[in-house]
Amino acid sequence: MTLSAARRPDDDLATTALSALNHVFGLPGFRGSQEQIVRHVASGGDCLVLMPTGGGKSLCYQLPSLLRPGCGIVVSPLIALMRDQVAGLLEAGVRAAVLNSSLSWDEANAVEQQLLAGELDLLYVAPERLLTPRCLAMLGRAEIALFAIDEAHCVSQWGHDFRPEYIGLSAIAEKFPNVPRIALTATADELTRREIAERLGLTDAPHFVASFDRPNIRYEIVDKQSAPAQLKAFIEDRHAGDAGIVYCLSRAKVEDTAATLTKFGIHALPYHAGLDAATRARNQDRFINEDGIVMVATVAFGMGIDKPDVRFVAHLDLPKSIEAYYQETGRAGRDGKPSDAWMAYGLSDIVQQRRMIDESSGAEAFKRVSIGKLDALVGLCETTHCRRDRLLGYFGEETTGTNCGNCDNCLNPPKVWNGSVAAQKLLSCAYRTGQRFGAIHLIDVLIGRVTEKVTQFGHDRLSVFGIGAELNEKQWRAVMRQLVALGHLKPDSEAFGALKLTDSSRGVLKGETEVMLREQVASARPPRGKSRRGDLAPAAATRGTGDAGLFARLKAWRSDVARTRGVPAYVVLHDATIDGIAATRPTTLAQLRGIPGIGDKKLEHYGQELLALVSASDT
Ligand code: ADP
Ligand code: ZN
Repeated sequence: MTLSAARRPDDDLATTALSALNHVFGLPGFRGSQEQIVRHVASGGDCLVLMPTGGGKSLCYQLPSLLRPGCGIVVSPLIALMRDQVAGLLEAGVRAAVLNSSLSWDEANAVEQQLLAGELDLLYVAPERLLTPRCLAMLGRAEIALFAIDEAHCVSQWGHDFRPEYIGLSAIAEKFPNVPRIALTATADELTRREIAERLGLTDAPHFVASFDRPNIRYEIVDKQSAPAQLKAFIEDRHAGDAGIVYCLSRAKVEDTAATLTKFGIHALPYHAGLDAATRARNQDRFINEDGIVMVATVAFGMGIDKPDVRFVAHLDLPKSIEAYYQETGRAGRDGKPSDAWMAYGLSDIVQQRRMIDESSGAEAFKRVSIGKLDALVGLCETTHCRRDRLLGYFGEETTGTNCGNCDNCLNPPKVWNGSVAAQKLLSCAYRTGQRFGAIHLIDVLIGRVTEKVTQFGHDRLSVFGIGAELNEKQWRAVMRQLVALGHLKPDSEAFGALKLTDSSRGVLKGETEVMLREQVASARPPRGKSRRGDLAPAAATRGTGDAGLFARLKAWRSDVARTRGVPAYVVLHDATIDGIAATRPTTLAQLRGIPGIGDKKLEHYGQELLALVSASDT
């Protein structure tokens, strides 16, 4: 790369930046505030960038590194992530390298020589490595374009990913006061943001804050009935052959679910902390490098997974909080293509999470906060309004209160019914049976089923026996779950599974509180209705819009190239680029070059082969 030209006049800079974006990355234009950020940093400014996952943070430091003299130093906490980023940059013809513990002494030495000789555009360094006296001294002798601190929230002790080695990064501002610093994170909250700015010497620097909306992700939360069957239907109907992540709470459930999916012919692998390190690494590598693998995992999996073409994230258990839900679902669709965040949720989820909090060893104050967070998430699950609105509102973003057109509630508005009488029956039943029983027994009594337990406790002689025959078992479960979610009924923290009345139950029983409930739609079928955003049809529908045969051939070709070169498939070509080729069927190099994702180097490397594939599938 020989784009270096710092401190050009503004217009020149804009043109050069756009030209680099096009030639190197093959992209036609900037997204959101990218251009502003690139210009700011390229002309020597510091800043803090807050953008959601998939927002396009990498370009915000990669382009300025190409535009300024010297090498951009990128601090990143994850070795696998650095390696894949560098592979992608090398493919695009950028002179990039890594410096971390995965290198031998000789390899590291060679990278250092390259840096000092001015032969690198971008160098990815692990924080602990960067902070060694040897590395700092070497950087002192090199020409440095900028410092980019990726995953900057790792510096925050209050955040969820605190990394002690990040604390030392405050040294960068002291030792290199004249080199621009750009810190980037996808963590939204205000406290973390302030802490990053303080620790990295960015309090006076501008903060570029993007919306945390992920418009290409479709949110959907369904009533859990038979989770494995629902999941299978969801994957088969909407994501056959796609890569996805399925989150479960326990190791055992991860194993079971992976085995079940495999039995159904879905290519699934397990991942949890109980597997040995080699198996974990192998499964993770396969997920990243191969096409269409479903990773069934505990939350141990995900941090630093940079795979852009994860088409769905499914939750079979409730996460702990909205923050966790947003982070986990955010791993879908980094490439901006339509993706699904799907969750199956039921009463047992609330009970289970409540029990985990009750049984945790945390202080009372901590438990209260945890319960508050869980309640907020349950509120998101039960809402009859736009999920996206609720999610963004939780993060303090001003919401419009309108229909987002891409969540289940907006696409298929749930019916609401007045459940006050049903609620009274259920609460009376819990009360009359002594607040000692769980869902199954309470429903048996309501429906009037003579079970052994009913007879044993004489509950068939109670006035509430059989008073709820108008609803079936499934409907009662839904009523019960919603009463718990609304706080009119609660799991007993002492007697597992038992449901007790709460302070607010009285109002319901006396008819003072009206209880509006959502009608259950328990299906894994796609929400009906067409997306308001025409470009956001369900993922599967957009595939192979041009030519399904060509699309499949391109993917097979990509897998071969990726295997031969030892890089992830998406490093060779993104899905969006493959879609573009299949849809437009280019016949000349110039036409191919016009497809997003095909820059100069990719055209040079793969142009002829791709054109040959297109013309060979000319049927
Ligand atoms: P982040 O680091 O914010 O999660 P990335 O930098 O990995 O996001 O970018 C996410 C995806 O968006 C990548 O597939 C990238 O190629 C794509 N992307 C980024 N900027 C643009 C742009 N200006 N035009 C088109 N695609 C873009
Ligand atoms: Zn919506």
